[in-house]
Amino acid sequence: MPTATPAYDPNNVFAKILRGEIPAERVCDSKHSFAFYDISPLAPIHVLVIPRGAYTDLHDFISRASDEEILDFWKLVDKISAEQSLIPSGFRLISNVGRDSGQEVPHFHVHLLGGRPLGPILA
Ligand code: ADP
Repeated sequence: MPTATPAYDPNNVFAKILRGEIPAERVCDSKHSFAFYDISPLAPIHVLVIPRGAYTDLHDFISRASDEEILDFWKLVDKISAEQSLIPSGFRLISNVGRDSGQEVPHFHVHLLGGRPLGPILA
């Protein structure tokens, strides 16, 4: 099945962060994944979690990544929610996929948002 996003562009901003070509404020990382603060935060805590591998979006990630990479990724998302003390109050995960979502960076990522009441999802 085709993905919602075009072929992987190795010069996208998150690929450059992974290669150390541009800076990012690291939150934590793991064997297959990396997490850093969003440069334009939409909430008091706004973390982006990305796989180290070259995947354009969620479908591409689940289709081509190994089970080890997929487990590593979601375990890191869960670890961050605990470490940032978001579990008691709650938080939101968002992953934009393709044109209709407004996905701007064509490297699969999950936004982890919290630290205040977030309101309706499309507000
Ligand atoms: P949208 O911009 O519509 O949220 P995406 O889901 O593709 O689209 O999200 C890309 C995110 O990456 C944005 O929240 C943006 O602020 C963030 N971002 C872009 N460049 C950087 C960077 N150099 N460091 C950290 N975050 C970045």
